[in-house]
Amino acid sequence: MTQILSEVFLDYSDILIRPKMGINLNSRKDVTLQRIFKFKHGQTRTGLGVFNANMSTVGNFVIASKLLARGMFATIHKHYTVPEIGEFLDSCRNQGVPLDNLFITIGLKNIDNEIQKLKDLESKYQWTTSRNICIDAPNFYIQKALDVLARVRQEFPDAVIMAGNIASGDICLKLLDYADIIKCGIGSGSACLTRKQTGCGTPMVSLILECADIAHSVGGHICADGGIVDIGDICKALCLNSDFVMVGGMFAGTDEAEGDIIEKHYETNEIVDEKHVIQTKCFKVYYGMSSEYANNKFAGGMGNYKTSEGRELLIPYTGSLDKILQDINGGIASCCTYIGATTIKHLSKCATIIRVNNQLNKIFEKYSV
Ligand code: 5GP
Repeated sequence: MTQILSEVFLDYSDILIRPKMGINLNSRKDVTLQRIFKFKHGQTRTGLGVFNANMSTVGNFVIASKLLARGMFATIHKHYTVPEIGEFLDSCRNQGVPLDNLFITIGLKNIDNEIQKLKDLESKYQWTTSRNICIDAPNFYIQKALDVLARVRQEFPDAVIMAGNIASGDICLKLLDYADIIKCGIGSGSACLTRKQTGCGTPMVSLILECADIAHSVGGHICADGGIVDIGDICKALCLNSDFVMVGGMFAGTDEAEGDIIEKHYETNEIVDEKHVIQTKCFKVYYGMSSEYANNKFAGGMGNYKTSEGRELLIPYTGSLDKILQDINGGIASCCTYIGATTIKHLSKCATIIRVNNQLNKIFEKYSV
């Protein structure tokens, strides 16, 4: 019989972190944002657990290098060639950008080629220390994904491997036999159509709680992927005990994201010299990796057996990525001071999460400039 779990599964917009008296922190400067990660399969990395999504729009070299330079984690998407990645590694080395937290993404298709790609990076471009691999599959429940993960671990025993995506706790232990980090989140991405097209998915807050609990019990880590709307959502994910958070859409309107700035002109109600004043707004294109656009660009079309589970969006242009990255640092540090957490790891110990009906005051939203 089909089972219905009647407990309400929560998303970021359903909760807030309740400020409270704790250790008295005088300033955001007293908070340590860097965390040491000791991974299940033996490696250690240090940083602030924020990733850019491994999508072609935001998983590019410029965005990756900016996150790495700020002590965060980064992915680069799977469509780069070995020489392109090699050149990027060299330029990071020349500019003093640390590469320890850089994850190279591979897909499930043509796994022999993908493994060869990683081996070529080792032999030709000194990708020898701090090897981090992100195995990207929209649906990690298929046997092929599990087989690929096992194979990659066998080929790269000393790498940090992040694998996903999944959206339930039951599969976590299986993945952690080979992976260090499980990427959690199906259907929550801003450019995602999975929930519309398939009805499948799990809200992020409940998913994080479930997966973190299971993963941490055996020394694994998780990355909450998709659905970050505000920096507060990153804080919430960390308070819920997610070790990492992955961000796509929030970076997609920046100068550094793929694509040109698109200008649109709108007639306003304001009239000057008997003419409506024209307002110009700027946008950038953000598309899901399973969108028709991405399929046409990277896979030679949609194929007649599948439906598009991603969409193409025009999202507001937001300027330089640097400002957002600084706000992320500031927002997390400030969250720590509201609940008396001196370190990131401390956040989940200090946080009291409250379920709410209204999260934000949106009364003047339409007047925002
Ligand atoms: P965002 O931060 O934009 O809310 O979510 C980014 C995440 O959405 C990505 O890291 C990835 O997991 C997911 N994603 C990216 N492209 C697609 C897509 O075409 N379809 C689906 N279902 N998810 C996508």
